[in-house]
Amino acid sequence: MSSSLPVIAVAGLGIESSTFSPARTQIPAFHPRRGADVLTRYPFLDPGAPLREAADWRGALVGKAQPGGMVTAAAYAELSAELLDRLGELGPLDGLWYDIHGAMTVEGVDDAEVELLARIREVVGPDVLVSTSMDLHGNVSRELVHRSDLITCYRMAPHEDAMDSKERAARNLVDLLASGAPRPVKAWIPVPVLLAGEQTSTRIEPAKSVYAAVEDVEALPGVTDAAIWVGYAWADEPRNRAAVVVTGASPDVVKAGAEHLARGFWTARHDFDFVAPTGTLDDCLDEALASTVRPYFISDTGDNPTAGGAGDVTWSLERILARPEFADPSGPTVVYASLPGPAAVEAAEKAGVGATVTVTAGAEVDDRDAGPLTMTGVVHSIRHGDVDAEVEVVLRVGSVHVILTRLRKPYHHEHDFTALELTPRAADIVIVKIGYLEPELYTMSADWKMALTPGGVDQDLTRLGHHRIRRPMFPFDRDMPEPDLTARIVAPSTEPLTGPDE
Ligand SMILES: [Zn+2]
Repeated sequence: MSSSLPVIAVAGLGIESSTFSPARTQIPAFHPRRGADVLTRYPFLDPGAPLREAADWRGALVGKAQPGGMVTAAAYAELSAELLDRLGELGPLDGLWYDIHGAMTVEGVDDAEVELLARIREVVGPDVLVSTSMDLHGNVSRELVHRSDLITCYRMAPHEDAMDSKERAARNLVDLLASGAPRPVKAWIPVPVLLAGEQTSTRIEPAKSVYAAVEDVEALPGVTDAAIWVGYAWADEPRNRAAVVVTGASPDVVKAGAEHLARGFWTARHDFDFVAPTGTLDDCLDEALASTVRPYFISDTGDNPTAGGAGDVTWSLERILARPEFADPSGPTVVYASLPGPAAVEAAEKAGVGATVTVTAGAEVDDRDAGPLTMTGVVHSIRHGDVDAEVEVVLRVGSVHVILTRLRKPYHHEHDFTALELTPRAADIVIVKIGYLEPELYTMSADWKMALTPGGVDQDLTRLGHHRIRRPMFPFDRDMPEPDLTARIVAPSTEPLTGPDE
């Protein structure tokens, strides 16, 4: 490497973790990559890629986990200490790309990504330029903006532009270092709105138009980057809410751009809605039973493991099995995915296919809404070797085919079912612990409704019991007064943060 190239480190920890789930996240879930291996995460940093050749990139540690429960204090302490040690060994730096999600919650730590960045600053020094890249479901406190020099996030949900956003954050950092320009002006606006991800898909209105304005603002002369964060609804810290940040050289343009985006988001707040019709579980079952189209899909949303739910809440299955319509094997065919229950799986394995067993499963991790569920049924199939579940068993209880797993597993594909000798296309009703349907399931469904069920990622936010978020907040305080949506210029990291925390 030529000595004239800027030296840029890459570091960060990313997860969205629900504080309403009793599940906990440990180190292996982060699949940490270290040293040069960090760079292999990013195709735009492959050897020979223009951006790779524009700087001397040095990986410290980057760990990314699937959504889950809070990170344990011990896991965070160990991972962050290693990250800092590795950063310290990289030598003098010009820049740091901080690649995070922004919704990591850690036992006993508030605003964990700021806590980590503050310690990173102590290691790398105040002069290093930091570019922070995030998921749009991350949260942006004033302190996070303060300690970053550039900050941005995805512009699409689902996140089809994730790698483009990371590349933009890396390129803007390289360009800033090459230009020798002063640190960018940062205009930050907290927007007192907290919405579920299922209400804010950028494929549909109003998020589609709200986010379309981001690129218009970014295109203005004097603007480096513009971003809108939806924030993360299933954690309960003062930082959890929507936010806007625009960065660039021109204070007036940056400020006006941020205010334009914040007004757009706030004005649309009443129009954000679920991407599918919603109802209580009983409403959804009534409609599914009355419907003439098959298969009818129901999302059991409150315990969605891919959003951070524990996955073993029994509330819904208990109610489904109690419905008289499904008591007899000749009733409407129902497929239910899924419930973890290692002891139940083992008992069914021992009994074998065709045997009648009585087993108890669920509520080992999350038992707030219902306890372990005991059911008697016929073992329909047994499958070994799934990468997530390890062992899966289908138990037919009345006319309901219940998928039991050793470990929690998301069911997103048709083959997840057919591998268990289930034919969801021929079923009357398919119920899956999921939010909006994954494409393969959506295509298969003749009709679909989302059941607002309890759990760690309850879609009905107002009943979760937030008590630390700032108030007033939409939709918790529907008739709240107009908020102050003027842009706050946040001081560079080299200067103290002044003004009230808000
Ligand atoms: Zn996200």
